[in-house]
Amino acid sequence: YTNEMTLEIVSRSCNESLARVTVAAFATQLNPTLEEVADIKTAVSEAITNCIIHAYDNKKQEKIRIECKTGKRELFVTIIDYGKGIEDIKQAMEPMFTTRPDQERSGMGFAFMEAFMDELLVESEVGKGTTVRMRK
Ligand code: ATP
Ligand code: MG
Repeated sequence: YTNEMTLEIVSRSCNESLARVTVAAFATQLNPTLEEVADIKTAVSEAITNCIIHAYDNKKQEKIRIECKTGKRELFVTIIDYGKGIEDIKQAMEPMFTTRPDQERSGMGFAFMEAFMDELLVESEVGKGTTVRMRK
């Protein structure tokens, strides 16, 4: 019995917290521990923030799609943007790599997603957008 939810938001920073709590609420049906909920929230928050600041350069009316699905005992979260895309995914995922050192970014977003979730897959096409798939 898998359950599904899709949430579409525009790229305003206030929607980052909306997405975070909505995914956490969806996850409760799997009876997660408090720590697991916190991990999921952190990962979603990092992914959405990346869409807003990197994919869309802080433009506020661009679409972000968040797809959630339950497995038997796991949660799948996919976060999709239609922004500028990532040229070198491997490099982008390295801890402390950032293309925005000027904006006080530390380049740890992907490292956190990787650490807090059980699986992280990133697909991207320059000029088309990025899809981040996570499982916990
Ligand atoms: P931090 O997350 O610590 O604030 P950061 O966002 O730069 O810093 P990551 O989240 O690890 O670090 O992302 C690394 C780099 O990957 C970014 O600097 C950016 O160049 C690129 N990137 C990440 N997500 C996207 C995205 N959705 N679209 C385009 N580029 C992205
Ligand atoms: Mg980031």
